[in-house]
Amino acid sequence: MILNRKNVLALFIGVITTLTMLAQGYEEQGHERTSTDFNWPEGKKMAISLTFDDARLSQIDKGIPVLESHGVKATFYISPDLLMQRLDGWKKAALHGHDIGNHTLVHPCTGNFSWSREKALEDYTLLQMSNELDSASRFIEEVFGVYPVSFGYPCGQTYVGRGQQTRSYVPLVSAMFASGRTWLDEGPNDPEQCDLAQLTGMELDGKTFDQILSLIETARESGSWLILAGHEMDDGGVQTSLLSTIDSICSYASDPKNEIWIDHVANVGRYVREQRSVPLHTEMLPYQNPVIPVDRRIDDLISRMTLAEKIWQQPALAGAYNFGPPTNETATVRDVVEMAHNSFGRGEVRYGNGSDGPHEADRVLLGFLADLLHERGLGFFS
Ligand SMILES: [Zn+2]
Repeated sequence: MILNRKNVLALFIGVITTLTMLAQGYEEQGHERTSTDFNWPEGKKMAISLTFDDARLSQIDKGIPVLESHGVKATFYISPDLLMQRLDGWKKAALHGHDIGNHTLVHPCTGNFSWSREKALEDYTLLQMSNELDSASRFIEEVFGVYPVSFGYPCGQTYVGRGQQTRSYVPLVSAMFASGRTWLDEGPNDPEQCDLAQLTGMELDGKTFDQILSLIETARESGSWLILAGHEMDDGGVQTSLLSTIDSICSYASDPKNEIWIDHVANVGRYVREQRSVPLHTEMLPYQNPVIPVDRRIDDLISRMTLAEKIWQQPALAGAYNFGPPTNETATVRDVVEMAHNSFGRGEVRYGNGSDGPHEADRVLLGFLADLLHERGLGFFS
């Protein structure tokens, strides 16, 4: 269609009308919105979650004992390398009910940080990020026996790539975790409105209790969920949440007369989700659920398909399967993955040092199967 002047004008008027309507709607609701229609449990007025990143050594050595003296449970988004340095302590913390969250494997952030230049988000792809999140979750499952449900974005950054190739990895986090938390945000979460995959995290590091108290009071007025985010837990220093502040927050929030629910992100998030009837990612079929290891997803998916569906009319896939003669119809899933790996283990679908080849082949195969089901209108990733 060629846009003549009349069309352009009609388009312009349409846009203006829409904008005017939106502006009016905004004005009508000009009063400060409150979350009075959201009920926190037991008549509480707000929720607080304490969160700490990176598995810094001071968290185990100094911070967790302070939390535990108040019976307060927090969320810890861990980095595997630091975690391994206090493994026993972390296992104990998890047993005591703290929430152990995924924080990626190598903590990629913008290349503007010189320490992140070799792992800059600008150079990442979604596939790489997906692989890394999966590997970090597998690591946590191996150490603690449970899959993590909470994710903390390293540096609070939610993208991969640069310029026109920039992609958000929020959808990935939304599909893999019950929640994702960002960092250095300006306000708390409205339990009615917040996106659980992008929960705000306000800085706890370096703050006195009085400074935090004013955040708490503001959050209480609107019935919000205040997520505080910190790093070191100590008496002073860079990126450090002060033990005295943490101690005071725990005392204050635990005092029934202040009507605060203090709990970790997984618990508060679950409550918010249930109140709003937001389905959890684990309500997907096993093959749709990225939280389940890829090989188990492939097994589930393949168990739902006929051989004809498997080979479909996808020449590349048919080549990888190389079924055809009946003798090959007994090929196991593992054989198929192996074949896919042999056929598609090309440079462009491999990365890292190549040692994760078979795992990558799983993903390539999954990609083909996803396309296949998409063509049939069945969808794959929700
Ligand atoms: Zn971090």
